[in-house]
Amino acid sequence: MNGKKIKEIALERIERLFNLAIEMLHERPDLAQKYVENARKIAMRARIKLPREKRLLICKHCKRFIFPGVSSRVRIQLRREPHMIITCLYCGGHMRRPLRKRST
Ligand SMILES: [Zn+2]
Repeated sequence: MNGKKIKEIALERIERLFNLAIEMLHERPDLAQKYVENARKIAMRARIKLPREKRLLICKHCKRFIFPGVSSRVRIQLRREPHMIITCLYCGGHMRRPLRKRST
C-alpha cells in the first residue's frame, strides 16, 4: 500500500468516527468523546490534518469533542474582518475562525 492509499483510508475512518460521534452525542457523550479521540489518533498516525470542518468540532485547548449548541457556542462577528468565535463549554476556551466568502 502506498502513502496516498493509507491517507485515503485514514480519512474515511475519520469521517465515519465523526459521524458516529455526532449520532451518539446525546445518548452516549462518553462514547462520542472516544470516537473523536480515535479519529485524532488516526490522523496523527497517518500524518494528516483533520478536515477543516472537523477541526471546528474539537476544542483546540482541551481537545474535547464540542458540538455547536450542545457543548460549544458559536458567535458570528461581521464587523471589520468577518469571523466566528467558538466557545468551548467544557473549558471556556475560544477559537477564532475567519469567515471566507465562497468564490462560487
Ligand atoms: Zn475546551
